[in-house]
Amino acid sequence: MNIIQIPAFTDNYFWLMFEDNKKSAVVVDPGDHAPVIKSLKDNNLELTDILITHHHNDHIGGVPELKKVFPKVNIFGPLDSRIPADNIVKDEDIIKLDSLYEEFRVLDVRGHTNSHIAYYFDKKLFCGDTLFSCGCGRLFEGTHNDMHRALTKIKNLPKETMIYCAHEYTLDNIGFAKILDPENSELLNREREVKSILKKGEYTVPSLLANELKINPFLRFDNKNIINSVQKHFNIKISNEAEIFKYTREWKDNEYD
Ligand SMILES: [Zn+2]
Repeated sequence: MNIIQIPAFTDNYFWLMFEDNKKSAVVVDPGDHAPVIKSLKDNNLELTDILITHHHNDHIGGVPELKKVFPKVNIFGPLDSRIPADNIVKDEDIIKLDSLYEEFRVLDVRGHTNSHIAYYFDKKLFCGDTLFSCGCGRLFEGTHNDMHRALTKIKNLPKETMIYCAHEYTLDNIGFAKILDPENSELLNREREVKSILKKGEYTVPSLLANELKINPFLRFDNKNIINSVQKHFNIKISNEAEIFKYTREWKDNEYD
């Protein structure tokens, strides 16, 4: 299967998938129609399916126009009146599409929004705004416990899983991670690597879960350096991982960006 990364707006990515011997394609989170249509044309493809992770406009804004150009397109998404899906999917559903050989598994990853889902297949995770490289999405609707549960679910996927997230936030995220985890050599290596990737005009995602587990403070709520930093910063004793996640998120929201 081919996966094309479509950059859009200032820092979004949409993901287009197709098989070599088929003329049809699937797109994840098309926040805008124009770059998707261009990519389809460039590759001589028809759009058959849209997979939506959550309702924010930079993830669904392109849907009405795409539906005009491809009236038969199937739209998959969670149950949410803000999402124009005609195929409602929920946690652990399996989606089989005519355009692709692989089946997708749906994961409920609520937290960034109350109905956020992710799509997983063959060690690839399309997670919208739940997990970013070295960061995670803000909690616009869900609770800290929701997001901790979602991130734990992602943490338990195979380590070789590639994280196809929806934004290029990596360098900024590393800036915050370094405050909590200044001695982490893997994090400093990743910073050097990310700077060189961005200098070349390339993308820092998708990223490998095994690497995220070493550098991403929002997946490292069980790591003693992160726990120590959070306890010291807030001058409190914290006994559970969900609370470590909660304070890490609050630290970034209130004091970093
Ligand atoms: Zn969002």
